Amino acid sequence: AKSAGGNRFELADPEADARTITRHGLTTALPAALDRGEFFIEYQPLVRLGDGSVRGAEALVRWLHPQHGVLGPDRFIPLAEHTGLIVPLGRWVMEQSVRQAREWRERYGDGTEGPLRINVNLSPCQLTHPGLVQETVDILERTGVAPDALCLEVTESALIGADDDLLKPLRRLAEMGVDIALDDFGTGYSNLANLRRLPVSVLKLDRSFTQGMQQFPADPVDLKIVEGIVALAHSLDLAVTVEGVETGAQAEQLRTLGCDTAQGWYYARPGPPDRLHELALADATG
Ligand code: C2E
Ligand code: CA
Ligand code: CA
Ligand code: CA
Repeated sequence: AKSAGGNRFELADPEADARTITRHGLTTALPAALDRGEFFIEYQPLVRLGDGSVRGAEALVRWLHPQHGVLGPDRFIPLAEHTGLIVPLGRWVMEQSVRQAREWRERYGDGTEGPLRINVNLSPCQLTHPGLVQETVDILERTGVAPDALCLEVTESALIGADDDLLKPLRRLAEMGVDIALDDFGTGYSNLANLRRLPVSVLKLDRSFTQGMQQFPADPVDLKIVEGIVALAHSLDLAVTVEGVETGAQAEQLRTLGCDTAQGWYYARPGPPDRLHELALADATG
């Protein structure tokens, strides 16, 4: 029976076994993968809900594994965090993405609303890495990209109960003009009063909120919650970005609720940088 000896069941399950091997295999292959250039970045546009213009994009890393094909970040970021490889990998992602932002600026100039901005995810391990601020400064200087064209996304859970030591590098980056976004907002235990203490300028509302809006008409309680979060965020001078927007009805709903920026399959799936070029270009030419 299944209930008898979970251990034996697991050993007898070839799939679970393969998963274990793969996990171990992936972990040992990670450092060489970085040297061999097996990682690449897809970009997903962030769109202003007011006028539908492209504000910028989020960088999302992928691993083109020689045997397993393209692996999503959920498959390897936890392993990279566990082994410490996330520090050099995260630095690589930041450098590549900021270079990409410079290329966008070269193509489109500064536009009427400033250059396209780049959002980069920061893992909690990178926050505690002492080189973070200097490395970020170096990357911006090497590429000639202004700090306000960069937004670093940190998850709410990484900052829960954060002490001053953890917040210090973020504060310094924010003082330089780098935007800090609180990612996956609303999934953790949200101490709303705590928000005032954090050097963040953007709340990124988790996909679960947008999902709750998928049925039509949307649950009125869900709407009230989002409305309340937006009001609170705006009263604290924070912009609100929503992720996981999959339909035009959701986009319209979120726009009505006062959200500032949106991201999701409705606009574009994550893709190569040229896809953003097309969107931004369509934008520029009306
Ligand atoms: P995230 O930061 O919450 O990123 C958004 C995720 O939602 C992405 O998954 C994106 O592909 C997916 N998504 C976007 N629009 C939609 C939509 O309309 N519907 C649905 N169902 N999903 C949508 P992805 O690319 O698999 O990334 C997963 C997570 O991996 C990210 O979640 C982020 O936490 C992490 N990640 C990605 N790149 C990096 C990185 O360079 N560094 C670190 N530390 N973490 C990364
Ligand atoms: Ca993110
Ligand atoms: Ca997120
Ligand atoms: Ca998420």
